[in-house]
Amino acid sequence: MIYLDNAATTKPLKEVQECVVEYMTDKWHNPSALYTNANKVRLDIENARKNIAKFINANSDEIYFTSGATESNNWALRGFVDYCIANKYKPIIITSAMEHKSITDCLIGMMSIYSELRVYEVRVHKKTGFIDEKHLQNILQIVFDKYYNLYKYKILVSVQYANSEIGTIQDIKRIAPIVHAYGGIIHTDATQAFGHTSINVDYEDIDMLSASAQKCGGLKGTGILYKSKHYNFIKPLIYGTQENGERGGTENVIGIMAMSKAVDYCRNVQINTEVVIKNRNYFVYQLITRFDCKVNGIIGDYLHGFFDNRSPNNINVTFPQNITGEALIYMLDSAGIMISSGSACNSRTNKLSPVLKAIGLSDEEIIKTIRITIPDNITKEEIDIVLNEIDRAIKVLTNS
Ligand code: PMP
Repeated sequence: MIYLDNAATTKPLKEVQECVVEYMTDKWHNPSALYTNANKVRLDIENARKNIAKFINANSDEIYFTSGATESNNWALRGFVDYCIANKYKPIIITSAMEHKSITDCLIGMMSIYSELRVYEVRVHKKTGFIDEKHLQNILQIVFDKYYNLYKYKILVSVQYANSEIGTIQDIKRIAPIVHAYGGIIHTDATQAFGHTSINVDYEDIDMLSASAQKCGGLKGTGILYKSKHYNFIKPLIYGTQENGERGGTENVIGIMAMSKAVDYCRNVQINTEVVIKNRNYFVYQLITRFDCKVNGIIGDYLHGFFDNRSPNNINVTFPQNITGEALIYMLDSAGIMISSGSACNSRTNKLSPVLKAIGLSDEEIIKTIRITIPDNITKEEIDIVLNEIDRAIKVLTNS
C-alpha cells in the first residue's frame, strides 16, 4: 500500500497512537474537576497549549482548542461578524477564490442571514495562485472610499496560508501590512501549512490562524484557533465555560495531547524538508518527462532546486492523454496506491475545483488533473512503483 493523499489526512503517528492509549486508560478524567487526577490532566493540557503556542511563536493564552480547522475558520469569520453586529459596526470580509469550503460556505451562509455583511473576493494570479496584492489594495481603498464617511465598519481579510490542492504558500508577511494599513485584521487558514512549513505568527503579523491536527500526524476532530491578544474583535461560536469562556465544551483531551505529540514530531521533520522536496522534485520531473504532464501552481526549478513557496509535499498535474483523474484514481487504487483529484472535501460533490478554475484551467484540464501529496518518508523505489502503475493505467485507459 502506498498512501499519497497526505493533504486529505495523515496517518496518526506511532507516538500519537501510544498517547491515545495513555489518555484512554489512565488519564481520562475531566480536566475541569478538582481532584488530583483531574488536575494532572489540566496540567497536561496547559503544557500542550504551551508547546503548540511555541511551535508558531505565539503565547499560550492565544491558543484555543477547537474541533478542527472547520470550526476554527467558522469561528474566525462568524465570531467577527457577531462582534461587529453586536457593536454596530458594518462587517466587511475580503477573501479569495482559493479558500477551503469551511470559509466559502460559511460566508455564503452568513450572507443569507446578515444583510449588513459585505463580502469581496480578491483575485489570485493565474497559474501560481498568489493573491493579487494590487487588487487587494484596490478593494481596501474602495471600501474606505465607499464607507468611511457613512458607517462605522471593520474589515477582516481571510486568506489561506497554503493551498490544499496546488500547494501555493501565500506571502502573509507581505499581505498583513497591506491589510493593517487600512485598519483591517488578517486571518489565515494554515491547515495545510501547520507542521509542514515554519510559521511565526509574531514575525508574520498574523491576527488569527486556524490549524487542524489531522494534517500533521495528529487526530481528526482537533484543531486550534490562534487569536492574537492584541485583537479582541470576535465573539464565541460555541458558548460555555471552557477555554476562558471563549469556546465551551469539555476539552477533547486525547485529541489535544495527540496534537502536541504531533507537533513534537513535526519540529524534527521540518529539518528534513529538503529530503521531502528532493523526492517531490524527482517525482514531478518523472511525471513531466514520462507522461508530458503539466504542473499546476508554482513550477520552480524541479530539476535542481526548490519550488519556492510551494508546500514541500504537494504535486498537482494535468495529463495530456485522453484519461480522467478520477479513472486514474480508481486504477491506482486497485494497485494499492492512494491519490486524489483535489481537495478531499470536494471529492464527492461532482463540482469542478474552484481552485483550478481560479488559476485558469479549462474544465477539460481540471477533469484530467490529479493531486499527489507525499509522506516525508517516501522512498525513490515507491515513487518508481507509482510511476510504473500510472504508465500501466494510461495504457489500459487509452487502449494503447
Ligand atoms: N482548511 C483546509 C485548507 C483544509 O485542507 C481542511 C481539511 N480538508 C480544512 C480547512 C478543514 O479541516 P478539518 O476537516 O480538520 O476541520
